Amino acid sequence: KRIITTELMEEDYKIENSLRPKLLKDYIGQKKAKDNLKVYIEAAKARKESLDHVLFYGPPGLGKTTLAGIIANEMDVNIKITSGPAIEKPGEMAAILNNLQEGDLLFVDEIHRLNRQVEEVLYPAMEDYAIDIVIGKGASARSIRLDLPKFTLVGATTRAGMLTAPLRDRFGVVSRLEFYTVEELTDIITRSAKVFNVEIDSKGAKELARRSRGTPRLANRLLKRVRDFAEVKYDGNITEEVANFALDLLEVDKLGLDNIDREILLTMINKFAGGPVGLDTIAAAIGEDSGTIEDVYEPYLIQNGLINRTPRGRVATDIAYKHFGLNRVESDL
Ligand code: ADP
Repeated sequence: KRIITTELMEEDYKIENSLRPKLLKDYIGQKKAKDNLKVYIEAAKARKESLDHVLFYGPPGLGKTTLAGIIANEMDVNIKITSGPAIEKPGEMAAILNNLQEGDLLFVDEIHRLNRQVEEVLYPAMEDYAIDIVIGKGASARSIRLDLPKFTLVGATTRAGMLTAPLRDRFGVVSRLEFYTVEELTDIITRSAKVFNVEIDSKGAKELARRSRGTPRLANRLLKRVRDFAEVKYDGNITEEVANFALDLLEVDKLGLDNIDREILLTMINKFAGGPVGLDTIAAAIGEDSGTIEDVYEPYLIQNGLINRTPRGRVATDIAYKHFGLNRVESDL
Protein backbone atom coordinates (compact mmCIF):
# COMPACT_ATOMS: atom_id res chain seq x y z
CA LYS A 1 0.00 0.00 0.00
CA ARG A 2 1.13 3.54 -0.75
CA ILE A 3 2.31 5.53 2.23
CA ILE A 4 0.48 8.55 0.84
CA THR A 5 -2.89 6.85 0.55
CA THR A 6 -5.54 8.87 2.37
CA GLU A 7 -7.49 5.72 3.24
CA LEU A 8 -7.15 4.44 6.78
CA MET A 9 -4.12 2.13 7.13
CA GLU A 10 -3.48 -0.30 9.92
CA GLU A 11 -0.68 1.84 11.32
CA ASP A 12 -3.15 4.74 11.70
CA TYR A 13 -5.47 2.94 14.11
CA LYS A 14 -3.11 3.19 17.05
CA ILE A 15 -2.38 6.87 16.60
CA GLU A 16 -5.63 8.36 15.35
CA ASN A 17 -7.66 8.14 18.51
CA SER A 18 -4.99 9.78 20.60
CA LEU A 19 -4.66 12.59 18.06
CA ARG A 20 -8.33 13.39 17.61
CA PRO A 21 -9.28 16.78 19.02
CA LYS A 22 -12.24 16.50 21.42
CA LEU A 23 -13.56 20.06 21.29
CA LEU A 24 -14.67 22.25 18.41
CA LYS A 25 -12.17 24.94 19.44
CA ASP A 26 -9.27 22.48 19.03
CA TYR A 27 -10.44 21.36 15.59
CA ILE A 28 -8.22 23.20 13.13
CA GLY A 29 -9.49 24.62 9.82
CA GLN A 30 -12.85 23.85 8.11
CA LYS A 31 -14.11 27.24 9.24
CA LYS A 32 -17.38 27.03 7.34
CA ALA A 33 -18.36 23.63 8.71
CA LYS A 34 -17.28 24.66 12.21
CA ASP A 35 -19.15 27.98 12.28
CA ASN A 36 -22.24 26.23 11.03
CA LEU A 37 -22.05 23.46 13.62
CA LYS A 38 -21.42 25.88 16.45
CA VAL A 39 -24.74 27.63 15.75
CA TYR A 40 -26.68 24.37 15.54
CA ILE A 41 -25.08 22.94 18.67
CA GLU A 42 -25.75 26.06 20.72
CA ALA A 43 -29.34 26.28 19.50
CA ALA A 44 -30.04 22.62 20.24
CA LYS A 45 -28.51 22.93 23.70
CA ALA A 46 -30.55 26.07 24.48
CA ARG A 47 -33.74 24.28 23.45
CA LYS A 48 -32.62 21.13 25.26
CA GLU A 49 -33.32 19.18 22.10
CA SER A 50 -31.28 16.68 20.13
CA LEU A 51 -29.23 18.09 17.26
CA ASP A 52 -30.61 17.87 13.74
CA HIS A 53 -29.19 15.04 11.59
CA VAL A 54 -25.84 15.96 10.05
CA LEU A 55 -24.18 14.79 6.84
CA PHE A 56 -20.45 15.31 6.26
CA TYR A 57 -19.01 14.69 2.85
CA GLY A 58 -15.54 14.96 1.35
CA PRO A 59 -12.41 12.89 0.66
CA PRO A 60 -11.07 10.38 3.23
CA GLY A 61 -8.94 11.56 6.13
CA LEU A 62 -10.23 15.15 6.31
CA GLY A 63 -11.85 14.84 9.74
CA LYS A 64 -15.44 13.62 9.34
CA THR A 65 -15.22 10.97 12.08
CA THR A 66 -13.40 13.46 14.28
CA LEU A 67 -16.20 16.00 13.91
CA ALA A 68 -18.83 13.38 14.79
CA GLY A 69 -16.94 12.69 18.03
CA ILE A 70 -16.68 16.41 18.75
CA ILE A 71 -20.42 16.89 18.30
CA ALA A 72 -21.16 14.07 20.77
CA ASN A 73 -18.69 15.56 23.20
CA GLU A 74 -20.03 19.10 22.89
CA MET A 75 -23.63 17.89 23.20
CA ASP A 76 -22.57 15.65 26.10
CA VAL A 77 -24.18 12.53 24.62
CA ASN A 78 -23.00 9.01 23.82
CA ILE A 79 -21.75 8.12 20.37
CA LYS A 80 -22.40 4.78 18.66
CA ILE A 81 -20.27 4.09 15.62
CA THR A 82 -21.11 1.88 12.66
CA SER A 83 -20.68 1.93 8.90
CA GLY A 84 -22.66 1.34 5.74
CA PRO A 85 -21.06 -1.95 4.74
CA ALA A 86 -21.27 -3.32 8.32
CA ILE A 87 -25.08 -3.39 8.36
CA GLU A 88 -26.45 -6.00 6.02
CA LYS A 89 -30.04 -6.53 7.12
CA PRO A 90 -32.89 -4.15 7.99
CA GLY A 91 -33.29 -5.97 11.33
CA GLU A 92 -29.71 -5.11 12.28
CA MET A 93 -30.35 -1.42 11.69
CA ALA A 94 -33.64 -1.63 13.61
CA ALA A 95 -31.81 -3.22 16.54
CA ILE A 96 -29.13 -0.52 16.59
CA LEU A 97 -31.76 2.22 16.54
CA ASN A 98 -33.84 0.50 19.18
CA ASN A 99 -30.87 0.37 21.55
CA LEU A 100 -30.19 4.10 21.41
CA GLN A 101 -30.79 6.29 24.46
CA GLU A 102 -32.43 9.69 24.35
CA GLY A 103 -30.09 12.20 22.69
CA ASP A 104 -27.52 9.61 21.53
CA LEU A 105 -25.51 10.21 18.40
CA LEU A 106 -25.37 7.44 15.81
CA PHE A 107 -22.41 7.81 13.46
CA VAL A 108 -22.72 5.93 10.16
CA ASP A 109 -19.48 6.05 8.18
CA GLU A 110 -19.62 5.35 4.44
CA ILE A 111 -23.35 5.88 4.58
CA HIS A 112 -23.63 5.73 0.78
CA ARG A 113 -22.90 2.00 1.04
CA LEU A 114 -26.04 1.10 2.99
CA ASN A 115 -28.21 -1.19 0.92
CA ARG A 116 -31.65 0.04 -0.04
CA GLN A 117 -33.66 -2.06 2.43
CA VAL A 118 -31.47 -1.01 5.35
CA GLU A 119 -31.63 2.60 4.22
CA GLU A 120 -35.43 2.50 4.20
CA VAL A 121 -35.42 1.71 7.93
CA LEU A 122 -33.72 5.07 8.41
CA TYR A 123 -36.44 7.13 6.71
CA PRO A 124 -39.11 6.99 9.46
CA ALA A 125 -36.37 6.81 12.09
CA MET A 126 -34.86 10.11 10.98
CA GLU A 127 -38.16 11.81 10.25
CA ASP A 128 -40.52 10.62 13.00
CA TYR A 129 -38.17 8.84 15.43
CA ALA A 130 -39.97 5.56 14.78
CA ILE A 131 -39.40 2.24 13.05
CA ASP A 132 -41.98 0.07 11.33
CA ILE A 133 -41.68 -3.61 12.07
CA VAL A 134 -43.50 -6.33 10.18
CA ILE A 135 -44.81 -9.16 12.34
CA GLY A 136 -46.06 -12.47 11.00
CA LYS A 137 -46.00 -13.82 7.49
CA GLY A 138 -48.27 -13.88 4.45
CA ALA A 139 -51.91 -12.90 4.93
CA SER A 140 -51.59 -12.40 8.69
CA ALA A 141 -48.56 -10.09 8.42
CA ARG A 142 -49.03 -6.68 9.92
CA SER A 143 -46.83 -3.72 10.54
CA ILE A 144 -46.43 -2.09 13.91
CA ARG A 145 -44.72 1.18 14.68
CA LEU A 146 -42.14 1.37 17.45
CA ASP A 147 -41.21 4.75 18.87
CA LEU A 148 -37.51 5.57 19.21
CA PRO A 149 -35.81 8.03 21.51
CA LYS A 150 -34.85 11.33 19.89
CA PHE A 151 -31.38 10.77 18.48
CA THR A 152 -28.98 12.44 16.04
CA LEU A 153 -27.76 10.63 12.97
CA VAL A 154 -24.38 11.78 11.70
CA GLY A 155 -23.55 10.35 8.30
CA ALA A 156 -20.20 10.52 6.53
CA THR A 157 -19.54 9.86 2.88
CA THR A 158 -16.77 10.34 0.39
CA ARG A 159 -19.30 10.32 -2.45
CA ALA A 160 -22.24 12.65 -1.79
CA GLY A 161 -23.43 12.05 -5.35
CA MET A 162 -24.07 8.41 -4.52
CA LEU A 163 -26.58 9.18 -1.78
CA THR A 164 -30.22 8.68 -2.71
CA ALA A 165 -32.38 11.80 -2.66
CA PRO A 166 -34.75 10.54 0.10
CA LEU A 167 -31.80 9.94 2.42
CA ARG A 168 -30.00 13.17 1.60
CA ASP A 169 -33.18 15.19 2.11
CA ARG A 170 -33.54 13.91 5.66
CA PHE A 171 -30.36 15.61 6.84
CA GLY A 172 -30.97 19.06 8.31
CA VAL A 173 -27.28 20.00 8.17
CA VAL A 174 -25.10 19.12 5.19
CA SER A 175 -21.44 20.09 5.33
CA ARG A 176 -18.68 19.67 2.81
CA LEU A 177 -15.16 19.29 4.15
CA GLU A 178 -12.34 20.88 2.17
CA PHE A 179 -8.67 20.05 1.76
CA TYR A 180 -6.52 21.86 4.32
CA THR A 181 -4.06 24.64 3.56
CA VAL A 182 -0.34 24.21 4.30
CA GLU A 183 -0.73 26.65 7.24
CA GLU A 184 -3.59 24.63 8.75
CA LEU A 185 -1.70 21.37 8.33
CA THR A 186 1.34 22.98 9.94
CA ASP A 187 -0.82 23.74 12.99
CA ILE A 188 -2.22 20.19 13.04
CA ILE A 189 1.29 18.70 12.83
CA THR A 190 2.55 20.99 15.59
CA ARG A 191 -0.35 19.95 17.81
CA SER A 192 0.14 16.23 17.03
CA ALA A 193 3.85 16.54 17.79
CA LYS A 194 2.95 17.78 21.28
CA VAL A 195 0.71 14.74 21.81
CA PHE A 196 3.55 12.49 20.57
CA ASN A 197 5.97 14.36 22.80
CA VAL A 198 8.37 15.05 19.96
CA GLU A 199 10.18 18.31 19.23
CA ILE A 200 9.48 19.79 15.83
CA ASP A 201 10.41 23.29 14.68
CA SER A 202 8.17 25.44 12.51
CA LYS A 203 10.15 24.82 9.32
CA GLY A 204 10.10 21.07 9.88
CA ALA A 205 6.34 21.16 10.44
CA LYS A 206 5.83 23.22 7.33
CA GLU A 207 7.87 20.85 5.20
CA LEU A 208 5.75 17.93 6.40
CA ALA A 209 2.57 19.94 5.80
CA ARG A 210 3.58 20.74 2.23
CA ARG A 211 3.92 17.08 1.38
CA SER A 212 0.71 15.92 3.07
CA ARG A 213 -1.74 16.40 0.20
CA GLY A 214 -4.07 18.64 2.16
CA THR A 215 -5.01 15.72 4.41
CA PRO A 216 -4.59 15.54 8.22
CA ARG A 217 -4.57 11.73 8.26
CA LEU A 218 -1.59 11.72 5.93
CA ALA A 219 0.10 14.56 7.84
CA ASN A 220 -0.10 12.54 11.06
CA ARG A 221 1.13 9.36 9.38
CA LEU A 222 4.12 11.15 7.84
CA LEU A 223 4.85 12.83 11.18
CA LYS A 224 4.99 9.43 12.87
CA ARG A 225 7.31 8.00 10.22
CA VAL A 226 9.58 11.02 10.34
CA ARG A 227 9.62 10.90 14.16
CA ASP A 228 10.77 7.26 14.08
CA PHE A 229 13.45 8.28 11.66
CA ALA A 230 14.54 11.26 13.76
CA GLU A 231 14.84 9.05 16.82
CA VAL A 232 17.01 6.47 15.11
CA LYS A 233 19.18 8.67 12.91
CA TYR A 234 19.17 12.05 14.64
CA ASP A 235 18.71 13.32 18.18
CA GLY A 236 14.92 12.93 17.99
CA ASN A 237 14.15 16.53 17.00
CA ILE A 238 12.44 17.19 13.70
CA THR A 239 13.97 20.09 11.82
CA GLU A 240 13.54 21.02 8.17
CA GLU A 241 16.69 19.04 7.38
CA VAL A 242 15.43 15.92 9.13
CA ALA A 243 11.98 16.25 7.52
CA ASN A 244 13.50 16.67 4.06
CA PHE A 245 15.87 13.79 4.50
CA ALA A 246 13.22 11.38 5.84
CA LEU A 247 10.55 12.31 3.32
CA ASP A 248 12.97 11.98 0.43
CA LEU A 249 13.86 8.55 1.75
CA LEU A 250 10.14 7.70 1.89
CA GLU A 251 9.97 8.93 -1.72
CA VAL A 252 7.32 11.51 -1.00
CA ASP A 253 8.34 14.60 -2.94
CA LYS A 254 7.78 18.35 -2.49
CA LEU A 255 4.23 18.17 -3.81
CA GLY A 256 3.38 15.01 -1.90
CA LEU A 257 3.78 12.86 -5.02
CA ASP A 258 5.08 9.31 -4.72
CA ASN A 259 7.02 7.35 -7.32
CA ILE A 260 3.95 6.08 -9.16
CA ASP A 261 2.56 9.62 -9.48
CA ARG A 262 5.92 10.66 -10.83
CA GLU A 263 6.12 7.71 -13.19
CA ILE A 264 2.73 8.59 -14.66
CA LEU A 265 3.75 12.20 -15.25
CA LEU A 266 7.23 11.41 -16.56
CA THR A 267 5.85 8.76 -18.93
CA MET A 268 3.42 11.31 -20.33
CA ILE A 269 6.20 13.85 -20.71
CA ASN A 270 9.02 11.65 -22.00
CA LYS A 271 7.19 9.05 -24.06
CA PHE A 272 4.21 11.02 -25.32
CA ALA A 273 5.53 14.58 -25.56
CA GLY A 274 3.20 15.61 -22.75
CA GLY A 275 0.09 14.28 -24.47
CA PRO A 276 -2.73 14.28 -25.27
CA VAL A 277 -2.50 10.57 -24.55
CA GLY A 278 -5.24 8.09 -23.69
CA LEU A 279 -5.54 6.65 -20.20
CA ASP A 280 -5.22 3.08 -21.49
CA THR A 281 -2.00 3.97 -23.29
CA ILE A 282 -0.49 5.46 -20.14
CA ALA A 283 -1.65 2.41 -18.18
CA ALA A 284 -0.02 0.01 -20.63
CA ALA A 285 3.21 2.02 -20.66
CA ILE A 286 3.69 1.83 -16.90
CA GLY A 287 2.04 -1.57 -16.36
CA GLU A 288 -0.78 -0.32 -14.15
CA ASP A 289 -4.50 -0.90 -14.39
CA SER A 290 -6.25 2.05 -16.09
CA GLY A 291 -9.12 1.98 -13.56
CA THR A 292 -6.63 2.29 -10.70
CA ILE A 293 -4.94 5.23 -12.37
CA GLU A 294 -8.27 6.95 -12.89
CA ASP A 295 -9.58 6.34 -9.34
CA VAL A 296 -6.46 6.39 -7.20
CA TYR A 297 -3.69 8.40 -8.85
CA GLU A 298 -5.26 10.83 -11.24
CA PRO A 299 -7.62 12.81 -8.95
CA TYR A 300 -4.81 14.38 -6.91
CA LEU A 301 -2.82 15.14 -10.07
CA ILE A 302 -5.81 16.79 -11.72
CA GLN A 303 -6.78 18.67 -8.58
CA ASN A 304 -3.29 20.14 -8.37
CA GLY A 305 -3.22 21.13 -12.00
CA LEU A 306 -0.51 18.65 -13.03
CA ILE A 307 -2.75 16.85 -15.52
CA ASN A 308 -5.59 18.14 -17.65
CA ARG A 309 -8.33 15.95 -19.01
CA THR A 310 -9.16 16.79 -22.63
CA PRO A 311 -11.47 15.09 -25.14
CA ARG A 312 -8.36 13.74 -26.91
CA GLY A 313 -6.71 12.36 -23.80
CA ARG A 314 -4.64 13.42 -20.80
CA VAL A 315 -2.20 16.29 -21.03
CA ALA A 316 0.73 17.06 -18.73
CA THR A 317 0.52 20.75 -17.81
CA ASP A 318 3.25 23.38 -17.52
CA ILE A 319 3.08 22.90 -13.75
CA ALA A 320 4.06 19.26 -14.25
CA TYR A 321 6.99 20.21 -16.51
CA LYS A 322 8.12 22.82 -14.02
CA HIS A 323 7.90 20.35 -11.14
CA PHE A 324 10.48 18.17 -12.87
CA GLY A 325 12.52 21.13 -14.08
CA LEU A 326 11.79 20.24 -17.70
CA ASN A 327 10.90 22.32 -20.73
CA ARG A 328 8.17 21.41 -23.13
CA VAL A 329 9.57 20.48 -26.53
CA GLU A 330 7.19 21.90 -29.12
CA SER A 331 7.30 19.56 -32.09
CA ASP A 332 6.01 21.08 -35.34
CA LEU A 333 5.91 17.87 -37.31
P1 ADP B 1 -12.39 10.96 8.00
O1 ADP B 1 -13.45 10.45 8.93
O2 ADP B 1 -12.82 12.16 7.21
O3 ADP B 1 -11.80 9.89 7.11
P2 ADP B 1 -10.86 11.34 10.44
O4 ADP B 1 -11.85 12.12 11.24
O5 ADP B 1 -10.70 9.91 10.79
O6 ADP B 1 -11.16 11.50 8.88
O7 ADP B 1 -9.46 12.12 10.56
C1 ADP B 1 -8.22 11.47 10.40
C2 ADP B 1 -7.22 11.97 11.43
O8 ADP B 1 -6.85 13.30 11.11
C3 ADP B 1 -7.77 12.02 12.85
O9 ADP B 1 -7.22 11.02 13.63
C4 ADP B 1 -7.35 13.34 13.42
O10 ADP B 1 -6.28 13.13 14.30
C5 ADP B 1 -6.83 14.12 12.27
N1 ADP B 1 -7.66 15.31 12.01
C6 ADP B 1 -8.64 15.41 11.10
N2 ADP B 1 -9.14 16.66 11.07
C7 ADP B 1 -8.46 17.37 11.99
C8 ADP B 1 -8.52 18.74 12.41
N3 ADP B 1 -9.36 19.61 11.86
N4 ADP B 1 -7.69 19.14 13.39
C9 ADP B 1 -6.81 18.27 13.93
N5 ADP B 1 -6.71 16.97 13.56
C10 ADP B 1 -7.51 16.52 12.60
